[in-house]
Amino acid sequence: MPEVVVVGAGPVGLLLGAELHRRGVDAQLLERREAAGGGSRAIGVHAPVLAALEPSGVTERLLSGAVRVTRGEARSGPALLGTVRFDRLRVRFPFVATLPQSATESALSVDGPAARRGATVLSVRPDGARMRLAVRHAGGAEEELHARVVVVASGAGARGLAYRTDAARARAYPDRYLMTDTAVAADDPTAVVRLDRGGVLESFPLPGARRRFVAWDADPDDAHPTAQRARMRAVLAAAGEHDAAERIASASGFRVRRFVAPRLRRGALLVVGDAAHEVSPIGGQGMNLGLLDAATLAPLLAEWVRSGSAPDAALARWERRRVASARTAAAIASLNTSLGRPLGARADAARRLGLRVALSPPARMLLARAYAMGLDRDA
Ligand SMILES: Cc1cc2nc3c(=O)[nH]c(=O)nc-3n(C[C@H](O)[C@H](O)[C@H](O)COP(=O)(O)OP(=O)(O)OC[C@H]3O[C@@H](n4cnc5c(N)ncnc54)[C@H](O)[C@@H]3O)c2cc1C
Repeated sequence: MPEVVVVGAGPVGLLLGAELHRRGVDAQLLERREAAGGGSRAIGVHAPVLAALEPSGVTERLLSGAVRVTRGEARSGPALLGTVRFDRLRVRFPFVATLPQSATESALSVDGPAARRGATVLSVRPDGARMRLAVRHAGGAEEELHARVVVVASGAGARGLAYRTDAARARAYPDRYLMTDTAVAADDPTAVVRLDRGGVLESFPLPGARRRFVAWDADPDDAHPTAQRARMRAVLAAAGEHDAAERIASASGFRVRRFVAPRLRRGALLVVGDAAHEVSPIGGQGMNLGLLDAATLAPLLAEWVRSGSAPDAALARWERRRVASARTAAAIASLNTSLGRPLGARADAARRLGLRVALSPPARMLLARAYAMGLDRDA
């Protein structure tokens, strides 16, 4: 019987598995998907995560293939509204590291246990002093597993493993977005957020002269890939990004939701990552929140396994810090999401003015801190 079972081998489960393994805990990872990889979502890794993962060597691996984004610009039409300087923050890693999610997952999993793939966890229940999991394997065979502790890191899709369905309902925002990762003519390590009357267009550098573009979608009902690509092209061309507009091969759509669970622990069942909190990706903090959940939980679980009894007081403090951090990140993401909506002429002028003020010293240092996750309780 493994001491800890982690449900889900997304970035958060992978990190937790590796951190437990590094501390000598017998941890097993169960993953529904038969193969790793898939589409890239999270690309930004923030300073507190880089600092937390430095001792294990993960940060060095992440940075070897990442772009270091030291500044961001807010623009409207041809006007520069202001800049955010991550390189002025007094932190060990004064930048946002950007890299594809698959590269992040590879860096996280190097020292961890290999996930058992094609294993879908159907339920998790207490069973005396242990936890019992019902698992269905690819091909249909079912298995019952036991562990001392179970951590649900299953993302939003299997939140029901840990929470009652009525308590786990996320709030959906009305907004829809288009996204593409594409080659561009030249490397430029600046992040750019354009706020025009038609809504937000974000542009983030990626390794290898590529960029991630995210745009507010004016016509989300037409989800045909050709139509999505055409709309993305039109947005990019309207913003003067003609090179990227010509090069994009495809675009996809996504929607955003908000959920913050008030509890992350019930006995020997714990919850981390998107299963516990889902924040709008506009601002890019969801994966980072989950990585900090995992990095701060691992030493407590190791102590639990070593001593044979749960460090209840430390786990309660961990839970309070992580829930408070998720609430802060959700509030920041919500503000970003509202700021990125299409507006009429007057409201747009007010938005531009508000941003110019917010991006002037000294307020812009607070903004840089907030965007770099400096307000997280474990930063
Ligand atoms: C477009 C987009 C861009 C984003 N960009 C950023 C960004 O730049 N920075 C950032 O910090 N965040 C970003 N995010 C958010 C980020 O992607 C998520 O917060 C992050 O992936 C959550 O990681 P996770 O491991 O908790 O969950 P997931 O990534 O959802 O992984 C959960 C895993 O559990 C598995 N699983 C599910 N159910 C079961 C089951 N029953 N049994 C076994 N396995 C199961 C799934 O197959 C999956 O592999 C973005 C999100 C989107 C949509």
